[in-house]
Amino acid sequence: MLNLLKTNFGFDQFRPLQEKIIRCVMSGRDALVLMPTGGGKSLCFQLPALLLPGLTLVISPLISLMKDQVDALQANGIAAAFINSTLTRPEIARIQAEAQAGKIKILYAAPERLILSEFQQFLQKARVSLLAIDESHCISEWGHDFRPDYLNLQMLRKIFPQVPVMALTATATPQVREDIVQQLSLQKARIFISSFNRPNLAYVVLGKQDAYGQLLDILRQHPHAATIIYCFSRKDTENLAADLRAEGLDALAYHAGLENEERRTNQEKFIRDEVQIIVATIAFGMGIDKPDVRLVIHYHLPKSIEGYYQETGRAGRDGLPSKCILFYSSADAMKQQYFIRQIEDESERRNAYQKLEQMVAYGELSTCRRQHLLAYFGEDYQEEKCDGCDICLSPPEEFDATIISQKIMSAILRTEQRFGMNHIIDVLLGSKNKNILERGHQQLSVYGIVDDFSKEELRRIIGQLVSRKLMVKNGDAYPLLGLSPDGREFLRKREEIRLPRLTAITRLAAAREAVDGVYDRELFERLRLLRKQLADEQGVPPFVVFGDLALRQMALHLPQSEENFSRISGVGEEKLRRYGQIFMEVIQTYARENNLQEKIIPVKRSTRTRRVKREGSTYQETKKLVLQQMPLEEMAQARGLAASTIVSHIEKLRSAGEEIEIDYLKLPREKFETIKAAFQKAGGMGLTPVKEMLGEDFSYEELGIARLFMK
Ligand code: ADP
Ligand code: ZN
Repeated sequence: MLNLLKTNFGFDQFRPLQEKIIRCVMSGRDALVLMPTGGGKSLCFQLPALLLPGLTLVISPLISLMKDQVDALQANGIAAAFINSTLTRPEIARIQAEAQAGKIKILYAAPERLILSEFQQFLQKARVSLLAIDESHCISEWGHDFRPDYLNLQMLRKIFPQVPVMALTATATPQVREDIVQQLSLQKARIFISSFNRPNLAYVVLGKQDAYGQLLDILRQHPHAATIIYCFSRKDTENLAADLRAEGLDALAYHAGLENEERRTNQEKFIRDEVQIIVATIAFGMGIDKPDVRLVIHYHLPKSIEGYYQETGRAGRDGLPSKCILFYSSADAMKQQYFIRQIEDESERRNAYQKLEQMVAYGELSTCRRQHLLAYFGEDYQEEKCDGCDICLSPPEEFDATIISQKIMSAILRTEQRFGMNHIIDVLLGSKNKNILERGHQQLSVYGIVDDFSKEELRRIIGQLVSRKLMVKNGDAYPLLGLSPDGREFLRKREEIRLPRLTAITRLAAAREAVDGVYDRELFERLRLLRKQLADEQGVPPFVVFGDLALRQMALHLPQSEENFSRISGVGEEKLRRYGQIFMEVIQTYARENNLQEKIIPVKRSTRTRRVKREGSTYQETKKLVLQQMPLEEMAQARGLAASTIVSHIEKLRSAGEEIEIDYLKLPREKFETIKAAFQKAGGMGLTPVKEMLGEDFSYEELGIARLFMK
């Protein structure tokens, strides 16, 4: 399986759960797969499709995505196709004929296709080995995205009672989960729930003081980064996109009110890297699986954590570090409340308030943001620090704010509590503005006594002192600062106070450099251009050629031999053949011009060995039992694992060089010889072809054991 993973997909390792899920379907069992966006669901049916004898039929609701997915598979040399309403009848007939002839391994179709009698006839005759139901929550009326067409899927079960079904989704509450199992009549399905944590996403909340200025800073710090900016209203998206364009940034708007054609082209340009920034309402995103979105910015407060999580989920599907930034202000929350008040149905209204409350809590957190998000989905995040949210990256350290607080309060008292925040700050900083001079405030003893804090910092400190009720604001439009009784006590008793420092955007930029790694930016840009050019020639999105990760690795290691180039993540056999030479030429030229050396890329197998060796790991547990010479069935029972899993543990242990005596597991001679002959006939070490040859009389475990003794 690892070999297939590398040759056909170009990857060295499985993501969490992928291997388990694949083994489950290969054993013929139904599976329900719950993984967050970007978790790598597709591979869970794409890789088995290559191992299974017949066709893998993939049901997907998003016609706009099918082509990209099929393009990506074909670019890896995998025989894939789709059938949907964008094709002509003759095209469909051709694809069906090819599928029947076994020339296609993976076929995508939309659920509405299933009721057409023509398609049903095709299915009857096709040899289907696996049914994969993508976005399977669409079958549930409880879900947020119910599609009546999905009910057609029940029919598939009738046509193919024996074929394993894999249902996949990124969103499922327990209720929806139950529903999927029922509606698809999944049989004894194994349910795989992966963590919804997205470790490569950093979560950041910024205050809304000068939001636009901060936004420009962020965008300028991330040139070329594919960015989605979510806004509240259609009008907002158009205005902001226009403003950004006026600043020379490459931005387009997207919302449901645009003409179909404009909406489609704007989206297409984003996917094809022809526009960098999309300013959108939440209407944007459903039909998109662009893997290299680096920034998702919420310029306005979302209505709920669910929505926020889903929208931020569109960042960094390719696993590279990406950021999710929320601009938060309590004014935004009030605006949302205003809209909620208009909701007539009471329970709906209360529900909306509650959801907003959770979102507000997220904005005002002083603890880990990731933990809060995951807790919302019922997941218990145990790490003390996530290293990927503003709070954990630059913890709001406390600092001794005693002196500065005393200075601020004195200034308020000296000016007789008759001035607002800006004036007090001007006095403290020694400003020479008109208001100060007219009032003679430059004469005050507190004039210009602060030189270790900026205006912005002083504003924040004052905000903190107000929220701690040491100071009060009087009046609405132009509030004047005063001292509360507690504040007077504080001054009189010379109490100490510690306040949190708030995140500064500069700190964040530093964190970014740390996680992004070092690669040659200029070479990366050249490779990006080449990628774009090749993609355009072939009429596919750039990420179908290579992902950002592959380009970064090229720009880091400068591979110039086939051997080295093929070690890049995402380079499988087909991509090496198609693109190897042309990319290496660009790399060579660049290396020569800049006098740079190629670096040999280490093969990534070491992690496997380490995993096998680790004390207390699942492999070591199995090893202990083998050392006791426990029979296979008993080991399986003792460990609560399938016998075939135990066999795979033993294989891993042996290939990692562990010395274990396994002679006691030997099969009866006759059986062994039969299996051995079958392996030789199959011409490979894969279990499936041999199992097919030998049929029911031999189990996978036996084949696995026999294989152990053949090596
Ligand atoms: P999902 O459908 O769960 O949102 P995808 O199947 O689109 O996720 O996968 C997200 C990205 O992760 C894709 O770019 C895919 O190529 C990549 N990917 C999947 N599995 C692996 C793996 N084992 N190693 C490296 N990248 C992977
Ligand atoms: Zn955190």
